[in-house]
Amino acid sequence: MHETPGSPREPAPSTYDIIIVGAGIVGAMVARYLSRYQLKILWIEKEADICMGASAANSAIVHGGYAVEPGTLKAELNVRGNAMWDQLAEELHFSFERCGTYAVAIGSEEQEALRAEEARARANGVPYQLISGEEMRRREPQISPETSGALFCPVGGVCDPWGATIAAGENAVTNGVTLKRSTAFLDFIWEADTNKPPQIAGIVTDRGEFRARWVINAAGLYADEVMHRAGVREEFTITPRRGEYVVLDRNHFQLDNVLFPMPSRISKGILVTTTVHGNTIVGPNAEEVGDREDAAVTTQGLEEIWEGALKLVPNLDRHAIIAVFAGLRPGSNAPTPDPKIDYHKDFVIEIPESIRGLVNLGGIESPGLTAAPAIALRVIELLKQAGEVLYEKPNWNPIRPGRPVFRHLSHAEQAELVRKDSRYGRVICRCEAVTEGEIVAEIHAPVPADTYDAIKRRTWLGTGRCQGAFDMPRVVELLAQELGLNPLEITKRGGPSKLLARRTKMRD
Ligand SMILES: Cc1cc2nc3c(=O)[nH]c(=O)nc-3n(C[C@H](O)[C@H](O)[C@H](O)COP(=O)(O)OP(=O)(O)OC[C@H]3O[C@@H](n4cnc5c(N)ncnc54)[C@H](O)[C@@H]3O)c2cc1C
Repeated sequence: MHETPGSPREPAPSTYDIIIVGAGIVGAMVARYLSRYQLKILWIEKEADICMGASAANSAIVHGGYAVEPGTLKAELNVRGNAMWDQLAEELHFSFERCGTYAVAIGSEEQEALRAEEARARANGVPYQLISGEEMRRREPQISPETSGALFCPVGGVCDPWGATIAAGENAVTNGVTLKRSTAFLDFIWEADTNKPPQIAGIVTDRGEFRARWVINAAGLYADEVMHRAGVREEFTITPRRGEYVVLDRNHFQLDNVLFPMPSRISKGILVTTTVHGNTIVGPNAEEVGDREDAAVTTQGLEEIWEGALKLVPNLDRHAIIAVFAGLRPGSNAPTPDPKIDYHKDFVIEIPESIRGLVNLGGIESPGLTAAPAIALRVIELLKQAGEVLYEKPNWNPIRPGRPVFRHLSHAEQAELVRKDSRYGRVICRCEAVTEGEIVAEIHAPVPADTYDAIKRRTWLGTGRCQGAFDMPRVVELLAQELGLNPLEITKRGGPSKLLARRTKMRD
């Protein structure tokens, strides 16, 4: 900040020091770590809630860092980010398990690829252990009998990406960051001073103008559009790469490990992995699509991932499938005039020299979830290098308290909770045992859940075998009751996604 502590500037209500565009895991981590400083921060998201882009639909792996090209920023931030997750999960109370991950070679023909994985692990300074096919089959009896060996990475893990993003966002908000959802960046406002490089003075959104000295582009799939409005990296264009998944019922199929195949040129391949919720997920494939909103799941895509997964785990049972989903990677194949950055292989994280006031993040594809906390620290380093003097808040609180999760409590703890608040005694989602008390707590949380999917992302409700068929009407009622709305106004994910068309029965 330019001002000194003790003499804070009194900015106009819509004037900020920093505006962050985009509320995925990267925006959330940037907001959380920047909230440590005496800065007035606005954080905007075009969707109705945070965590609705790539951060909501991915493999949920906290990568060890052996799969990324050595010498890249991606490799550096993967390794640095990975090391931050234990403390983050402890401070922010979301689910994370450092269970280790396996990259599995099938048949003797994949031994060469395994050696390439090992070379990258060594070059990136990632701990690993090479194990034989026999040892792999002992550790995971459901693995293919053709397994010829594996690279075990003990620092890899699985997390709840929804929980991590929401918890980091909540921590930012309780530390003073202003979050505006359903607010889309449209353009920049510039300061007129012809003698120096153009200085950003703020942004225009569909909800008005906001002024700030710095804008951080964390817009994921739309990061190219944001940077182009600033005249930066005009050649950088995002070509979304869709990845489809299936989710298996944990009561029907269970696997305790994270199993990667040998990677292809464009992706880490189709994995079969456990999740923090105990469900196994299978996917993703990698298909370039023209439309940034095209997260459709296709018959062809599902066949492709199933076939791929069977090579690793032959006894997978289609009857265990309870859900399908797809995520979009914000990748760029654009040729680059900058020899320092290969868009296909690396992140763009920079303060461009041609203008003033932009921190530009682009191409944050995998391992962007893992790297997000390290990306946030890198952003802070860049701001400091650009001359920002950041003063810590004396009362910054790194802790985002957890809220009771009924199904994780002992019987005695459940009884005690119900005694204090009877709403915890009413189970709304039977598959996942989510109670009314948990739902109401999320509706009134610091980043309030005000759509059906927002409740789902925060409580894991609606994710079991019935996929919300039982709980949805009750959740609509609760949202309407708590928010003082007509049930007809309640949406699934904001915008036009209303859940009820009209009233069919009149109450007495
Ligand atoms: C299929 C798949 C699998 C993956 N698996 C893994 C994995 O296992 N491990 C891992 O580390 N990484 C993984 N990743 C990568 C990881 O998910 C991403 O790198 C990460 O989520 C990117 O976060 P983000 O915040 O940059 O983007 P997003 O989560 O997409 O957030 C960007 C936000 O910006 C908002 N926005 C866009 N335009 C505007 C605008 N004009 N105004 C306001 N807001 C705007 C969007 O709505 C969105 O919410 C995977 C990705 C995919 C797609």
